[in-house]
Amino acid sequence: MTDSLGRNASNARVRTRVAPSPTGDPHVGTAFAALANYCFARGRDGDFILRIEDTDQARSTAESERTILEALHWLGITWSEGPDVGGPHGPYRQSERSQIYRRYADELLERGDAFRCFCTPERLAEMREEQRRAGVPPAYDGRCVALPPAEIAANVAAGIPFVVRMVVPRTGTILVHDLLRGEIAFDAASIDMQVLLKSDGLPTYHLANVVDDHLMQITHVMRGEEWLPSAPKHVLLYRYFGWTMPELCHLPLLRNPDRSKLSKRKNPTGILFYRRMGYLPEALLNFLGLLLITVGEGDEMMDLRTMSQRFDPKHLSVAGPVFDVQKLDWLNARYLRETLDVDGFMERAREWAVNRTYFREIAPLAQTRIERLSDLGPLLSFFFAGRLDVTAEQLREGKLDDDTLRKAFAFALEDFEAVARWDVENIQNVLRNIAEALE
Ligand code: GLU
Repeated sequence: MTDSLGRNASNARVRTRVAPSPTGDPHVGTAFAALANYCFARGRDGDFILRIEDTDQARSTAESERTILEALHWLGITWSEGPDVGGPHGPYRQSERSQIYRRYADELLERGDAFRCFCTPERLAEMREEQRRAGVPPAYDGRCVALPPAEIAANVAAGIPFVVRMVVPRTGTILVHDLLRGEIAFDAASIDMQVLLKSDGLPTYHLANVVDDHLMQITHVMRGEEWLPSAPKHVLLYRYFGWTMPELCHLPLLRNPDRSKLSKRKNPTGILFYRRMGYLPEALLNFLGLLLITVGEGDEMMDLRTMSQRFDPKHLSVAGPVFDVQKLDWLNARYLRETLDVDGFMERAREWAVNRTYFREIAPLAQTRIERLSDLGPLLSFFFAGRLDVTAEQLREGKLDDDTLRKAFAFALEDFEAVARWDVENIQNVLRNIAEALE
């Protein structure tokens, strides 16, 4: 099988998108992908759009969507189409597009490029268990690929639940073209017959993503490397639909300084963490830009416009760039010291936390403990501090031995990460549970 992915006509207006799933805190990886797509489009007089991929109904929340938009806005990234601003290809939230996906799934079914799979969850679990025992990768075994039409009709009439899966040829090679990596060949037999529509009639990522990129006339898809294994499935879907595939560019994964995949254990990964810590959005954006664009020494400071002019995905290196907070600190310092006059500096400090709204929240905590107003500094200083000076001696002031202390902190870290809403009640619950567990 050869690559049938027709390249985009070079005269098409460039349209890119970022397509976050609203399943958690806004992640720097989302900002990184957004920046790449933004710069690519804006540098070519194109359009950059935002789409919310909330097909995972169990994990998606409106709160997460709201904070993702807020975080991107804070960074200064703007989009010309999106769930908040509308546009000619809306809706831009996948949960509002179910009818559209169903129509396209039907089209695939009619043409025999997809099939109804009536396998029960129990049967699939057994199948996977057997595959696990046999040491082969889990994949659908194809039992329902070629059911007789009469059996399908009878099952549907009897109301037996089904999912819709895509047909995947069992032989041949599927070629994916990636802007950075060139042609990548995937063995068709290794590709799972992906579920496209779940039994509740809602789409999976793959169907929704392909249909939307097509309908929204996306010409270039820049997304994290973790999506590369999905690309051959998408190539097939574009082929089945007879659509031109956008250019793909899988962005290298951001890394911790030890070169492992960026993780919050080693580096904070939430965009809003950096806001809270007092990084300027333009400094953070510039820092992310340095992970996309190679510049000479002394040439590091770039605004969004300059980054848009300079960004060329062909110059990206597949080795993941290191998210080096020390470098971010250096850059942020330069922005704070070199780009603002005193009034500008005061204004940024006010926006950050030196303001009435913030003081209104923390003042009551001081008031109950205060003797002199001049105690305010020591009482409240940590509300304005990002780098805490905690010593082992301070931690040892309680009754716990070192071993138990270590355990308590490890548990607390883990449980705090699972806390959805950071408020007194949730924090207390975590700590109380640990106290009880450790007696
Ligand atoms: N919803 C996917 C994500 O959260 C988008 C992947 C893509 O850009 O195709 O990263």
